[in-house]
Amino acid sequence: MLERRSSLPRAPVRGENLLASHDAASLAALLERAGGVASTARATAAKVLRHVYRDEGAFTDEALLAIGVGAWARPTLLELDPSLSLTIASEAPSEDTTIRLALRARDGALIEAVIIPGPARTTLCVSSQVGCARACTFCETGRLGLLRQLSAGEIIDQVRVAQRVFAPRAAAGAPRIGNLVFMGMGEPFDNLAEVTRAIRLLTDSRAFELAPSRVTVSTVGVADKLPAFFRDCRAELAVSLNAPDDARRTAIMPVNARVPMAALRAAIEEHLPASRKVLFEYVLFHNVNDAIDDADLLAAYVAGLRCRVNVIPCNPGPDPALRPPTVERIDAFVARLSSLGVTTLVRRPRGRDVGGACGQLAGALRAAAEGVGES
Ligand code: SF4
Repeated sequence: MLERRSSLPRAPVRGENLLASHDAASLAALLERAGGVASTARATAAKVLRHVYRDEGAFTDEALLAIGVGAWARPTLLELDPSLSLTIASEAPSEDTTIRLALRARDGALIEAVIIPGPARTTLCVSSQVGCARACTFCETGRLGLLRQLSAGEIIDQVRVAQRVFAPRAAAGAPRIGNLVFMGMGEPFDNLAEVTRAIRLLTDSRAFELAPSRVTVSTVGVADKLPAFFRDCRAELAVSLNAPDDARRTAIMPVNARVPMAALRAAIEEHLPASRKVLFEYVLFHNVNDAIDDADLLAAYVAGLRCRVNVIPCNPGPDPALRPPTVERIDAFVARLSSLGVTTLVRRPRGRDVGGACGQLAGALRAAAEGVGES
């Protein structure tokens, strides 16, 4: 059973005039509307992407003329705004090297992105919405409600800003930002068109050149969007589970009342392409979902799916009843899952001293983000 049509509020997307809101296809479509024949429009769009993102060339009439963009296309292109749509409102480095960025959009909206350096690669956690309508009880962002959608360009600009912030460390030898996770503010499937367009540009070899396997989109389980996600997006899928049965999952994740766990599992099983896996995220809460019996239920739930499970001890969030388990309980839970044949990773939260949240899972998922893409 798929989710009924959502009654979530419609919040506007800003920034349609940003150059960064265009992937190769939408830029080519724009140029076709400007009078170019399809093949020329596609070739021009490719040329522009390479010039702007890979060669970091200027976006001026002279520079576009110099790379061979015709007079028929330049006025249309130059109506687009190539500048950053986000500024840094605050930058909080953590003792464990995590950098939490609060970013301000042009309308004043604040979002969060988190840079998580690792030994082999650096991960960036980005936001997909300003606020979120999904109201998970453990999540600070859920308390805001949905304020508005982010445009593709605003998603891209989180990457551009983070690359600039991280440039000195990269120049000093730290691994560049090579992993991207949509685990910040917002439910990405509630803004899937913009998220998908941003991912197409981020994974385009003429632009940001991220490997699709290094981009992960995390959802609470908006099942009716799974077909579109797998059709249009080559990124990896993560599903935030966090409970072993419907009663407990509904209590902390209202989406479960619309899409119970069995329906979510059936939708994943039906739509997951043969070549792909799903990552289940399971945040552990003391005496809520961390018993050995809960590990048994979780193992039974994921049995038969191509998947792995990331177990993440929670960071304290807005609900005082949800606290991290003891180390002994974490170890016992993970050992039980592993003994039942479930590929399991445990990830400890990082960046605690900078506080706050990477939106979606109150900081704990920063740790999950670090594990994404590891083999
Ligand atoms: S956990 Fe994610 S989906 Fe749930 S309220 Fe927070 S941002 Fe929204």
